[in-house]
Amino acid sequence: MAPTPAPPPGAASDITRRRRPFSGWWRGLSPSRQDRLATLDPLASVLLFLAAIISAFWYLRNEEIVRETESIKRDAELTQQQIGLRLIQTQEQLTPIARDLATPGASPERFLEQAQAFSKDRAEIIQISWVGADRVPKAIHRATLYAPDPAVREERPGSQAPLAPLTARNGAAALAFDGARTTRLPTYSGAFVDDIGNAYFQLQMPLIDHGRFTGALVVEYSVDTLLRNFVPADVARRHMISVVDQYGSVLVSTVTRLPDAVGGREPLISDAPLTPALNGLMLRGQGYPTSKGLVGNTLFWMVVALSGLTVWMLFGTWRHVRHRARIQSALVQETNFRRAMENSMPTGMRAMDLDGRMTYVNAAFCQMTGFTEQELIGRLPPFPYWPPDRVEENGRFLQLELQGRSPSGGIEVKVMRKDGFVFDARMYVSPLIDPKGQQTGWMTSMTNITEAKRIRDQLSASHERFTTVLEGLDASVSVLSVQQGELLFTNRSYRLWFGGDARGHALLTGGAAPAEFIPGAEDDVDQLSGLPTHELTEVGTSPREVFVESLQKWFDVRSRYLQWTDGRLAQMLIATDISARRRAEEQAAMQAEKAQVTSRLVTMGEMASSVAHELNQPLTAITNYCNGMVSRVKAGSISQDDLVAALQKTARQAERAGQIIHRIRSFVKRSEPQRQPAQAQQIVEDAVDLAGIELRRRQVAIHTYVAQRLPTLSCDPILIEQVLLNLLKNAAEAIDSAGLPSARRHIELSVVPRFAQEEGDVIEFSVTDMGPGIKEEVLGRLYEAFFSTKAEGLGIGLSLCRSIIESHRGRMRAQNLYNGHHIVGCRFAFTLPVDIAARHEAAGSGEDTGSTVSPNPTVTST
Ligand code: ADP
Repeated sequence: MAPTPAPPPGAASDITRRRRPFSGWWRGLSPSRQDRLATLDPLASVLLFLAAIISAFWYLRNEEIVRETESIKRDAELTQQQIGLRLIQTQEQLTPIARDLATPGASPERFLEQAQAFSKDRAEIIQISWVGADRVPKAIHRATLYAPDPAVREERPGSQAPLAPLTARNGAAALAFDGARTTRLPTYSGAFVDDIGNAYFQLQMPLIDHGRFTGALVVEYSVDTLLRNFVPADVARRHMISVVDQYGSVLVSTVTRLPDAVGGREPLISDAPLTPALNGLMLRGQGYPTSKGLVGNTLFWMVVALSGLTVWMLFGTWRHVRHRARIQSALVQETNFRRAMENSMPTGMRAMDLDGRMTYVNAAFCQMTGFTEQELIGRLPPFPYWPPDRVEENGRFLQLELQGRSPSGGIEVKVMRKDGFVFDARMYVSPLIDPKGQQTGWMTSMTNITEAKRIRDQLSASHERFTTVLEGLDASVSVLSVQQGELLFTNRSYRLWFGGDARGHALLTGGAAPAEFIPGAEDDVDQLSGLPTHELTEVGTSPREVFVESLQKWFDVRSRYLQWTDGRLAQMLIATDISARRRAEEQAAMQAEKAQVTSRLVTMGEMASSVAHELNQPLTAITNYCNGMVSRVKAGSISQDDLVAALQKTARQAERAGQIIHRIRSFVKRSEPQRQPAQAQQIVEDAVDLAGIELRRRQVAIHTYVAQRLPTLSCDPILIEQVLLNLLKNAAEAIDSAGLPSARRHIELSVVPRFAQEEGDVIEFSVTDMGPGIKEEVLGRLYEAFFSTKAEGLGIGLSLCRSIIESHRGRMRAQNLYNGHHIVGCRFAFTLPVDIAARHEAAGSGEDTGSTVSPNPTVTST
């Protein structure tokens, strides 16, 4: 069996909605819509009430009209019956009189007698007359004073009766007479009126004698009297009964003044024909609805006014409700805002009444303490989150709180979570005021400060470490605010050396910084304190060495700018005592100098035999010249001129020996190393001159090449000469010791300008020999002091050379020369940086002398 499908979600609520559609629909509306509809409801009911009242009035009025119409109709018919009955009775009672008149024995006297008797009880009959077949009256009986018949009037001229219009009367009478003669039946004439508007009609009864028409009995009725006498009294009271002619104009009426339609009300009318006359006269019943129309009804207007008042009040209420709703929504918004704020805060909020009973806690408070709202609200102290061992202390705090004496900075308390974990919290209290301005309790905020406390402890520990380290430093540390010149921080070493004031800082900056940063050069300074921006952006400025005379100490001073903790710009100086290092350096420099001199002496010592050999030649020549002169003077065979010539030669030889000794002396003479402008050409010449002694002894040739128009060097020429001599001597020794054939016994010394990527413009000196080269294992230890491959070598030459070159900011390198895989010699080269100013000078002089720009080598060989 297939499982029954699960009802879709929300099916149940659908069913409920269907069952109670209105409440469902109502609940589905937004509150503002509900409000609006709730206000509209009474309005609608008032309007409905008004409509009901109007329709009730309408209905009642219609009902009344119908009833009144019915009643009028009945009254008209009743009157019709009454009058009809009277007319028929009269007609019947006239029949015997008419029959008598038709007989030949009828006489006017008798007729008049009968007529008088007949009309006595009949007020409505105003005249009875007997006319012949020719319509000539035979006898006339007038029941009233006035006689409408002109014939009668003529007969009785003294009559004051008003005249009825003759034409109308005659016409109507003639018609009725003709009718009676023709039909031989009693015939009623049409109505006619007299001068003053009284209406009448006639009944003409034919007189038939043996089938022959002999005349007519004419009875004239007064419509007025008929109406007055035969309208029942209650009918006349109820309604107006009138007689109208065929044209609708009223002939006579029970009411004298005919009321017009009053106040726009239409009269209710019911007509009934005047039977049995049927001569066009109509009996008319007329009445008015007693109730007034809606418009004239006071009650109706009262209802309308009340409804209007109600609507107006509803409108007022609605406006009030709207105003209230707006305030309410603002309030709700405010409340929501505050609630959201309160719930988003990590701060716990707790409210208490004046007895200390908890009346409110927020979500954060519950989260912090681990207790639910139900567990906390309504509780009196001791509260469940008080650690058991601190109940007394917390109770004391609470008492302070309730008395309003808690410190404004808050109270630090221990709080125990439900799970037993205890944390530190800070509580702030403020009074809770109700809308009437009365205090109802206290609001307490609680912040977990465990983390803050931990950080604070860590910070203070790290601060302690920091100060311990700074205090323990051998270097002096001082921080000076740039603008105020106030000393912000000093460490122990600073205080030890310079005391507590800023003078030490000024001494270390050379008295210039930070005051030296004067605003001015727009490119270099910013608008902030006028300090050079690069000083601030660089991590550390280049160290300076400062000698403080009062302490007789050298300091390595490093300064940097920093933002102090309060945001001020400050200069920090770290001054390290480097006096010991300075002394060591000075000593080392002195020793190096001594070593250089010693090395020169050693070189000379090594060259001693060569020098001796060199000196031997002039000395031998001098001896020979002297011996020759002595023997020739003894023999007296020398002329004065020859003697002078011989003496001059001797002197030249002595001079030559003296020159050698002078050169050696100036080379080994101990002198302070000093930089001076020097020409490479001169240095090379001097070096080659000295080396020549050794080279000649070892039979090694030298080729020198010095590029022309080299810039002036700034160096100590003796030291560079020493380096060159060392290199030349090493090359000669290598060639000599390898016993190479004369083809390979030569050295090349060249000096050329060069541009190197890492050094810039330099002058390169190189010494290339065709000797055996440097062995691989030697290459790595070449500059090691006291490393030598020679039996009598000291091994300090190259190490000294390199230190000399490097002290001149130059570089020294050695490399082997190869022919395929064979080493065919080696090349030692060093560079000296070019003084740019001197170089320009040289270029300028070159142009002055008109020399070509291309280097023109000078080659000398010994
Ligand atoms: P010393 O000359 O007293 O040995 P140096 O420092 O001048 O001391 O030289 C160190 C070593 O370098 C020498 O012993 C030699 O082996 C090697 N050397 C120096 N110049 C040359 C060269 N032109 N050819 C081959 N080897 C050389």
